Amino acid sequence: MTASEANLPAFLIDKRRLKEGEVFPFACHPGVPCFNSCCADVNIVLTPLDVLRLARRLGLHTRDFLETFTSNPITKDLKLPMVMLKMKDEEGKPCPFVGAAGCTVYGERPWACRMYPLGMAIPPARAGEEPEPMFFVFEDDHCQGREQPGCRTWTATAWREDQGLAQQDELEAGFRDLVSHPWFIGGRTLDPKRMHMFYTACYDLDTFRSFIFESSFRERFEVPPEELEELKSNDEALLRFAFRWLRFAIFAEPTMKVREGAAERSEK
Ligand code: SF4
Ligand code: SF4
Repeated sequence: MTASEANLPAFLIDKRRLKEGEVFPFACHPGVPCFNSCCADVNIVLTPLDVLRLARRLGLHTRDFLETFTSNPITKDLKLPMVMLKMKDEEGKPCPFVGAAGCTVYGERPWACRMYPLGMAIPPARAGEEPEPMFFVFEDDHCQGREQPGCRTWTATAWREDQGLAQQDELEAGFRDLVSHPWFIGGRTLDPKRMHMFYTACYDLDTFRSFIFESSFRERFEVPPEELEELKSNDEALLRFAFRWLRFAIFAEPTMKVREGAAERSEK
């Protein structure tokens, strides 16, 4: 598949694609001359899991984290809400989390920071086909990670394993399945109400939890009591539930059980 066939995002178009099993050299540690240079003036798109983990690390309500540390760029072909880490408004635009000794939120660093120097793209959705991710290597001039003497080589799989990405892939894949859903085939887009629903369920998880427990949600949908109990305190279970709810609410999949009579009641 060529780059244009895959509808690659602009930032990946001229990058080297890694074939299955192909390796790249890389080492990043405080001893590299470019240490920390990549943690400034950089576009980092956050995933729902990134937002959740960073908010928890900082002890913030997800809404407060989003308001303080993120921005939502609007582009003309935006089909879904986009959440980006906001760089500090000072000289050099450093990341809010970079410190002299490196990343101060290392254990919860975003997906994009773990992936670098790899980039990933998902081919456009095709009905009945599971899209296979494609991997690319960034060979940026400022990054000396690939030139370190004796640095080891990695396949995309080994790198993702090393960076803890394989371990969190079930939740990331749940999100990827939403954004690459066949519903979007043909350029369909969400109306503002559904855009907001998507944003809240995916990123503002504490507000989504209030929606479940403080609205008529439980009168409208049948959710087993033990699952509800888990959703009160288990953030990752709640995120999985949010993805399920969106598949119902946006793509009309039968992923939620509507209580008998609830549909009629809500129409009256
Ligand atoms: S989150 Fe951490 S690794 Fe990512 S840009 Fe900021 S300081 Fe660097
Ligand atoms: S520029 Fe590359 S090698 Fe240097 S700190 Fe960043 S990722 Fe590591």
